[in-house]
Amino acid sequence: MTIISANLQAVRARIDAAATAAGRAPESVRLLAVSKTWPAACVREAAACGQSSFGESYLQEALPKIALLSDLGLDWHFIGPLQSNKTQGVAEHFHWVHGLDREKIAARLSAQRPAALPPLQVCIQVNVSGENTKGGIRPEQAEMLARAVAALPGLKLRGLMAIPEMSEDSPLVHRRFAALRELLSHLNSRGMALDTLSMGMSHDLEAAIAEGATIVRVGTAIFGERPKQ
Ligand SMILES: *Cc1c(COP(=O)(O)O)cnc(C)c1O
Repeated sequence: MTIISANLQAVRARIDAAATAAGRAPESVRLLAVSKTWPAACVREAAACGQSSFGESYLQEALPKIALLSDLGLDWHFIGPLQSNKTQGVAEHFHWVHGLDREKIAARLSAQRPAALPPLQVCIQVNVSGENTKGGIRPEQAEMLARAVAALPGLKLRGLMAIPEMSEDSPLVHRRFAALRELLSHLNSRGMALDTLSMGMSHDLEAAIAEGATIVRVGTAIFGERPKQ
């Protein structure tokens, strides 16, 4: 067994255990394997173990990988910060975007989404920890952006995403994830039909699943420590 396949099995076991402990079906949590910085061969190895969803943060790195692996029919999720000059490549080559936090970027993605493809699935990133270094909109602004995004024909708004601060304070981490879940249910009570909470990474996926994550984004626990960039 390779390291990647052993790691994938271990991560899936963590997901199953966390879901079961929370009284949730393990299938209700999708594993997004974050392959940024790792070569196409590593993605191919993970795909051979049945992993089909992959997350990338850097467009220039992702495009050649996506092309090299086009025979596999994988699902590609853009999880990095998104500037205007990246929207075209993302709209043309990805299935999902997790870090949407500006209407202008949403409008560009929608306009640039090729008509032959289904709408790009998107999550709005919310800054749940109030750190001003982080991407994401303030929770109070989520509804306005969600309504704007939901009206764009090239996009399909699926839900919310967050990256809370790194913290050893477990109750605090739970509160951050719970805040995202409560915001999603608030939007749903206001007439939206959102089904996705993208939250939880290698170090905190258990807390995220306990608080309702439907997608966990896991890199290090699958592929190993990333080389410093
Ligand atoms: C890199 C990254 C991850 C994966 O983090 P790990 O700690 O390696 O699991 C998840 N989400 C986002 C947005 C990332 O940029």
